[in-house]
Amino acid sequence: MNIHEFQAKQILGRFGAPVPKGQPASTPEEAAAAFKALGQPKAVVKAQIHAGGRGKAGGVKLLSSADEAREFAAKLLGKPLVTHQTGPEGRVVRRVYIEEASQVARELYLGLLVDRNSGSVSVIASTEGGMDIEEVAAKTPERITTEAINPLLGLSGFVARKIAFSLGVKDKEVNQFVTLLTALHRAFWETDASLIEINPLVVTADGRVICLDAKMSFDDNGLFRHPDIRELRDPNEEDPAETEAAKFELSYVHLDGNIGCMVNGAGLAMATMDIVKYYGAEPANFLDVGGGANTEKVAAAFRILLSDKRVKAVLINIFGGIMRCDVLAQGVVEAAQQVSLSLPLVVRMEGTNVDQGKKILADSGIKVIAAADLADAARRVTEAIGARKAP
Ligand code: GDP
Ligand code: MN
Repeated sequence: MNIHEFQAKQILGRFGAPVPKGQPASTPEEAAAAFKALGQPKAVVKAQIHAGGRGKAGGVKLLSSADEAREFAAKLLGKPLVTHQTGPEGRVVRRVYIEEASQVARELYLGLLVDRNSGSVSVIASTEGGMDIEEVAAKTPERITTEAINPLLGLSGFVARKIAFSLGVKDKEVNQFVTLLTALHRAFWETDASLIEINPLVVTADGRVICLDAKMSFDDNGLFRHPDIRELRDPNEEDPAETEAAKFELSYVHLDGNIGCMVNGAGLAMATMDIVKYYGAEPANFLDVGGGANTEKVAAAFRILLSDKRVKAVLINIFGGIMRCDVLAQGVVEAAQQVSLSLPLVVRMEGTNVDQGKKILADSGIKVIAAADLADAARRVTEAIGARKAP
């Protein structure tokens, strides 16, 4: 789960990381009031969306009066902001963040993430602050330092100092950097984060080291331990189909193709996607309804699939182990009736109560294309949309 910059800064601030003072606003009036409340000659107004690249897209501006803050907020709020990370449709700005301005002397990059290669949390640091780290990694990898943090020892002072030196941080700024990184590292562990990205981390003209931008993501599987963080979920920033799927505890990932797939078991779901591709079409999603799905869950899964307007045909591939085929069939019939299904529907079922399942489908009056096996199912569904390529 991702959160907004201002929320990440509030969390990091609580752990003792230096962040500029600021206040979120959801109307131009609130933005003007927030500017006044800061009581400083200048402030930065920043669009709050779950995407970076706001600076270049005109979503970040240094302003010198409450009136300017009001005007700029009015320009941003309620409208989509298109950055290189949002896709062409952009993201609607529903809040802005008004923050004290910093006098930037140097911009650096600092990130912490779960590093599967080293089996630990790694710190990524670079002198190229304000740039996409992926781009730095591709063009000038020598400007990136990666330090795996031993999970048993934690972040030792000497490791933090080593990272500081690799960034050219000097003198009294070294201790500030060490304090900041220690705070980030503690925040990472204690919130079950999966990513903290400070881009840029800045050294100011008066020698302070602060987090000028902040991005935080959390491990969804750890969220039950952090009800306060779970509250920060912003449904406006999430794919509505994925939000709906989460409600029913379905594993659903939206993809770009046009074959809606409903499968039980992650391995079978991946095999189904592979074979759909092999026969010349693209899956519209990954969807694992799980082992013990009931009728309600299956119906929800089916509705979610069909809510994707790009879906041109549906492939249901279920192996009835714990999941019973009659339960599946009942769910499909209910959902198909609710949405008055008009797309081709290919069903391949095997296993527990398969005959009852087939009978329920046959008696339902829904047009079902029955498939004999996995390959047959893929063949039929790709044929149904005229995309079949392979033998
Ligand atoms: P992003 O473009 O979405 O990553 O948004 P950032 O929060 O990183 O802001 C973009 C850029 O705006 C930063 O890289 C800075 O160069 C600049 N910026 C943001 N806040 C300040 C500030 O207080 N002072 C100065 N001088 N520059 C700022
Ligand atoms: Mn940034």
